[in-house]
Amino acid sequence: MAVERVDPAPNARRGAAVKADRWYAEGTRFTHEMPSVGALIAHEHRALRVVAHHPRDDGSTSVHVRREYGPALERENSRGECGLRVQGRPMWQLYTSERIPLCSCCGHPWPCGAMMDERRAMDAMRAGADLIARANDGCCLSCGEPITTRQRHILAPEPNVLIPGFGPPSFHLRQSCRRYVEQYDRARRDRLGADWSPLIRRSDPLPLASPSASAPH
Ligand SMILES: [Zn+2]
Ligand SMILES: [Zn+2]
Repeated sequence: MAVERVDPAPNARRGAAVKADRWYAEGTRFTHEMPSVGALIAHEHRALRVVAHHPRDDGSTSVHVRREYGPALERENSRGECGLRVQGRPMWQLYTSERIPLCSCCGHPWPCGAMMDERRAMDAMRAGADLIARANDGCCLSCGEPITTRQRHILAPEPNVLIPGFGPPSFHLRQSCRRYVEQYDRARRDRLGADWSPLIRRSDPLPLASPSASAPH
């Protein structure tokens, strides 16, 4: 029987950051325990029934599964079955009930791939709208607040690289706005290529608390 690998999920390691775009199936709970025969697990947009466990010589286990919902597995046979090769103690998503939340459009386990794409697009749109709301002349692109003449700030040398048609953005040099300046600078670097020179350097000292120092531009 053909076998697909199940790698220990990177976010299953204690303390590791959870990847934002990882699929979390609704109606499941997380467990490190090997799912028993008969259990229903969520795996990469599919609901799979555990049919059998096959220990292997190398110490791993092949978990024989049958796909009940979701897109075909790469290596499944004509009955929708294949083996998941399991090494270590991966994190499983175990359905807590036989009533699996499915998408009303495509019938795949919820949230389906199309729904996740939609959510990502909505997030990107919201982030874009937030950015435009902050991009007023004389305001800081990090926080959206006006920059007073007494505040230390920096002005980008070229028009906004994130929002076409907008002029060069300004930023406060204060600590709370600085992280976004670094993020914006990475976008500048991607856009400008060889013409890029950094807006600020990590090694640059933070501005003095006194607002009387003049702006660098
Ligand atoms: Zn769907
Ligand atoms: Zn600011």
